[in-house]
Amino acid sequence: MSVQKACKKCGYITEEDACPLCGSPTSREWQGYLVVIDHNKSKIAQLMGIGTNGKFALRVR
Ligand SMILES: [Zn+2]
Repeated sequence: MSVQKACKKCGYITEEDACPLCGSPTSREWQGYLVVIDHNKSKIAQLMGIGTNGKFALRVR
């Protein structure tokens, strides 16, 4: 099973070493996540500045 990593900047969860959204390095040290299905309607996504759908970590070290 592949390792899920989270972007240190925007929290996007990916298997890549660099975030496909913002290009920042990703970390294996993260906790909790939020699934954004419709970022235009999600208040949480707006609060976190998320402009796309996907899985986002709540806390990244
Ligand atoms: Zn990112």
